[in-house]
Amino acid sequence: MSGQWQGDVFETHEISLSDERDFAPKRHLEYVQMLTGQTPRGSRKWRAGVLGATGLVGQRLVKLLANHPWFELTAVAASERSTGKTYADATRWHLDTPIPHEARNLVVQSLEPTLDCDFVFSALDSSVAGPAEEEFARAGYPVVSNSRNHRMDPDVPLLIPEVNAAHLDAIRVQQAQRGYTTGFIVTNPNCSTAGLVLVLKPLADIFGLERIFVVTLQAVSGAGYPGVASMDIHGNIVPFISGEEEKLESEPQKLLGRWDGRRFVDAGLGLSAHCNRVPVLDGHLECVSISMKKIASIEEVREALRTFEVGPEIASLPSALRRPIEVLDDDNRPQPKRDVNAGNGMAAVVGRVRECPLLDIKLALLSHNLVRGAAGAALLNAELLASRGFISHRGKPSVSASATPRRSEQNLVTERIPT
Ligand code: NAP
Repeated sequence: MSGQWQGDVFETHEISLSDERDFAPKRHLEYVQMLTGQTPRGSRKWRAGVLGATGLVGQRLVKLLANHPWFELTAVAASERSTGKTYADATRWHLDTPIPHEARNLVVQSLEPTLDCDFVFSALDSSVAGPAEEEFARAGYPVVSNSRNHRMDPDVPLLIPEVNAAHLDAIRVQQAQRGYTTGFIVTNPNCSTAGLVLVLKPLADIFGLERIFVVTLQAVSGAGYPGVASMDIHGNIVPFISGEEEKLESEPQKLLGRWDGRRFVDAGLGLSAHCNRVPVLDGHLECVSISMKKIASIEEVREALRTFEVGPEIASLPSALRRPIEVLDDDNRPQPKRDVNAGNGMAAVVGRVRECPLLDIKLALLSHNLVRGAAGAALLNAELLASRGFISHRGKPSVSASATPRRSEQNLVTERIPT
């Protein structure tokens, strides 16, 4: 295990055994105790900021952070359009539950790296994410990013905890090379890559992978808001998503590759992707053909997927599923409408595993682009980083910004209101 256990950063939480989610921190604490022989102490949550909090991914993060057992939302930032307003006034809220009360009155700040938080999630538009994330990392903030800008940087982990947690070792090299102190950047993959690689992982481990051919049918929420014009997508399919095929052909190489102590070594897969935008709200469906190094029966492949289980460290993170792949038996599943929220949106749902006349096997998979492919993925990454001691408390007492800001915040807000 990389990173350090700092002895005082894990929380004691109020544990209710009413559901699996509440139970997760308890499992995690038991795991930490088992590893360290220490009793976790203290009761402070890590304070989280969200850059791009007003967008589709940012809203999901704000929702997932409400009542999170380890993190509390203390800062939100977005564009000049939103700066200086309360979060409730600035946000066109898209979720079917109300804006969490702890977020409503936070004042939206600009992208200056002076936020009152221990680390930031970045759900920024890619036109601004690159330099903004670097500035926050340079200022000492761990940055847990959704954006594409730094995913393929040679010293930035592209992380799916269930797949390549060992890649976090690159953080120390990144900090040394870039002169960052406590800050760093960790990214999660593109929304289609996330589900695909989760499903490929057990097959890579057990049978070895050679070539993958994937056709995606991607939901409109993957394009952010307002995204694709309604007249272009209603009753239609658009067989092009700018930059998407390139991401789907390159990111799995890094994710399924390895960190050799100095650099990432690609998995060396043959990969070809066709990406299509379809008139579905949430959930990316992918039709995948796969050739493998070892010959395996369909039943062996189904079993490998069905029984894929993460280790105790990952399973004990609050947002993790012990078995993140669900295999369905019905011929007409998975379907976005029926299956997108499987495992609270964190599962990859697989169906139609069968022989492929060109490659070895083919299957259909579905994952929630805004949860497993974005906000939930980032949250799980942050949980792993926190549990491994990569996120520190930055010393300030935990005070939420409010609609009536403190004097120093009033000055900041006044300066940034566009005139
Ligand atoms: P979105 O709905 O368009 O939201 C973009 C966010 O960026 C908003 O909060 C917006 O603030 C902020 N922003 C835009 N320009 C800015 C500027 N100049 N300065 C500061 N903030 C600015 O997009 P999204 O779908 O949430 O995606 C966010 C990021 O996650 C993107 O990089 C995207 O590629 C990535 N991602 C998205 C998905 C998905 O399924 N949607 C999946 C994986 C990754 P205002 O509201 O103030 O304009």
